[in-house]
Amino acid sequence: MNIELQCCALFIIFTIAVMFFREKRLDLMNRKLFQCAICACFSCLIFDILSIVFINMSVHRGFNSDITRIVCKLYIMLLVLQGYLGYVYASTSLLPRDETWAKIARASFHGIFGLGEVLMLLLPIGFTASGRMVYSFGPSTSVAYALSAVYILTTIIITMVYRLKMPGRRFIAMLLWQGIWLLAAVVQFIEPELLLVGFASSFGMVILYIQLENPSEFLDGSTGLFTTNALSVYVHDKYRFGKSFSMFTAKIHYLTTYVDYNTEQNAVMRTARALVKLGPEPAFRIDDDTFCVLYDDKNRMFERAANIKMQKDNVTDLPAKGTYLLIPDSLIMNGPDEFFRFLHTYLECEQEILVANEDLVQELRAQSNIREMIDDALKNDRVEVFYQPFYNVKKDCFDEAEALVRIRLESGEIVPPGRFIPIAEETGQIIPLGIRVFEKVCLFLSKGEAEKYGLKQVHINVSAAQFDYENPAGFVTRYIEKYHINPRRINLEITETAAAQSREIMLRNMTRLLERGVTFSLDDFGTGRSNIDYFVNMPVQNIKFDYTFTREFFNNDKIKHVLIGLMDILHKMDMGVVAEGIETEEHVKVMKDMGVEFIQGFYYSKPIPEDGFLTYLRDNNGES
Ligand code: C2E
Ligand code: MG
Ligand code: MG
Repeated sequence: MNIELQCCALFIIFTIAVMFFREKRLDLMNRKLFQCAICACFSCLIFDILSIVFINMSVHRGFNSDITRIVCKLYIMLLVLQGYLGYVYASTSLLPRDETWAKIARASFHGIFGLGEVLMLLLPIGFTASGRMVYSFGPSTSVAYALSAVYILTTIIITMVYRLKMPGRRFIAMLLWQGIWLLAAVVQFIEPELLLVGFASSFGMVILYIQLENPSEFLDGSTGLFTTNALSVYVHDKYRFGKSFSMFTAKIHYLTTYVDYNTEQNAVMRTARALVKLGPEPAFRIDDDTFCVLYDDKNRMFERAANIKMQKDNVTDLPAKGTYLLIPDSLIMNGPDEFFRFLHTYLECEQEILVANEDLVQELRAQSNIREMIDDALKNDRVEVFYQPFYNVKKDCFDEAEALVRIRLESGEIVPPGRFIPIAEETGQIIPLGIRVFEKVCLFLSKGEAEKYGLKQVHINVSAAQFDYENPAGFVTRYIEKYHINPRRINLEITETAAAQSREIMLRNMTRLLERGVTFSLDDFGTGRSNIDYFVNMPVQNIKFDYTFTREFFNNDKIKHVLIGLMDILHKMDMGVVAEGIETEEHVKVMKDMGVEFIQGFYYSKPIPEDGFLTYLRDNNGES
């Protein structure tokens, strides 16, 4: 009998089923469909073999032909079910969920499937066998052929149309799966002796299993927990089907700066084991030292998280502590992108236990809006530079100024840097932003008007983050050359928040620029962002006393003595002092008496746009 291929296929499907069901799996929609597809393929093969056996028995040995007809019908109904599952598999992950046309299409295809199955059951079927040729025919079989063709072709079309929505490997696997099936059906139609369809469907399952549904791909090699990739797919699946979930993450923080491999492995493995023991819910390792578990119920999540925290508190032999981020309801985030942005942002939080709530999500949204605002301003040239003059005490004029960035919104409203610089530093947007500011200042200086009114130097702020991402010496020299600016006209204001490693990069860059004639100031002195070490070891020309520091002069006698002493030291080191944030005449007088070189503050002028600044220089310095 012509059942060798079917038996082979049955063996293949059995092997895949064993491998698939043995592995730890995530409860994903595609996975469930794949399980259904394996079961359908398995049953279909059984009925394929049975139908061949029964047809032969009926034709050659007079076996009851009604029973054979039922078996043949069940076989073709299962065959159509397989085609239908292929379509559902593709459409579930690819077709939009909420659009009306997709809903109508889905309902129609489900309806057609139901109707087709009923028709196949009711319509007559015939069968024949001669030699190795065995087949069924009649209206019922024709419906099966037509429906299979509809589902296979629809699946291929959906796959082609939405190919950009999936990775290349998924695209190829889907096409191969359906293509092999189609080819086998055509060959079997032309050459009925070649009963290829059953074998082709099992071969399709192999491709699907290896390329798309192999659960072990989602497992972390060393802990056996699910990977970040798995979390991404899982969370997308949950949001796509509108299912809320709760989650807790636990992050290990080592208490020593150097952690040896054994300690790290020990901490990681103990955490992984503890998480697995918590219950059947899926646990993920989402970073070297960060783990999470997802729950359907938030009370269970809180209870399990408390359990983990208690277990951790009882561990005394590891130089590590844990921080926990709890998300009771995933639906406070509007989708997977926001969910992962939330995770990325708040996992870094040092707080021991942080519970996600609407306020945190709002904060995150505000940050995203600012990120977009910066991008938009850069794209549409709405980054502006304001200038704030410094009063030169000795020369009694305004010969230096600070360039301060602003963003002008489409509405004309001006956004101050305090609202966007910290975020730009975090996102890396500080790089293009810093370059834009620098270019604008160079363009301004290249016109020569400010110089005509006595301006000698412009101070430009450079964040420590700029040294982390790029070498600032590169763009500074590039624009100085492009706009033919005398490097002595540029003073870069730096603060120090960066780590020792960046400090070295910073020093290297500073040396290169100093050689060209650019000078430096240490900004925000007295705020804790800069300390004595920096002016001793950094080649800075000026120290800028932050206004919170100078204010203290009037309120705190100890600070007063520190400031007076410091002025003396700085002058002995040949450094100038700029007092920031001076708003009243009294403050001006005190600063002058103390011997500061420059005074910057609202008393003289707020930061103002280019035109106003030129007028200010002309009115107060005159033409030089
Ligand atoms: P900063 O460099 O310390 O700039 C001085 C800040 O003090 C400016 O705020 C200025 O407007 C403000 N200020 C000056 N005089 C007074 C005063 O008398 N009273 C008060 N209350 N404030 C005064 P602004 O322009 O809002 O800038 C804030 C910070 O944003 C700057 O602090 C600087 O750290 C950063 N920033 C500004 N522009 C840039 C830039 O182009 N690049 C980078 N990386 N940071 C910038
Ligand atoms: Mg500054
Ligand atoms: Mg400052």
